[in-house]
Amino acid sequence: MTSGNGRRTLLASRIPLDQISIPKDRSPLLLCPDCRTWQSWKRGLIKAHPLRPNQVTSPKCPGSHQRVLIDLTADQLREMRVGAAAHAWTIARSPREGYQQAPPVVPAIHQIAAARGAPKR
Ligand SMILES: [Zn+2]
Repeated sequence: MTSGNGRRTLLASRIPLDQISIPKDRSPLLLCPDCRTWQSWKRGLIKAHPLRPNQVTSPKCPGSHQRVLIDLTADQLREMRVGAAAHAWTIARSPREGYQQAPPVVPAIHQIAAARGAPKR
């Protein structure tokens, strides 16, 4: 299924968690991938919006009329956020695999000699 703008339909569950918002009592919001502004969508379509909101003569954003299929609920989205936050926390706390510690400092020649019990001059 394609959108009004000719692009493929976006699945809400495939949108990065920080680029979608589904408030319980308001219309959902999506960060438009083209102009990076938050847009609401109605009846599965992002409403038409200017590419540069600050300019009166701005052309229409190519992300307008993007079809978005909401395949998760506000509760599911919140749970995914909590899960992702916990996951990020776990990664941040765990020691990294393949992380190399600084190599041991090589002792100086006289220290090696002293350790071997070499005769001193
Ligand atoms: Zn846009």
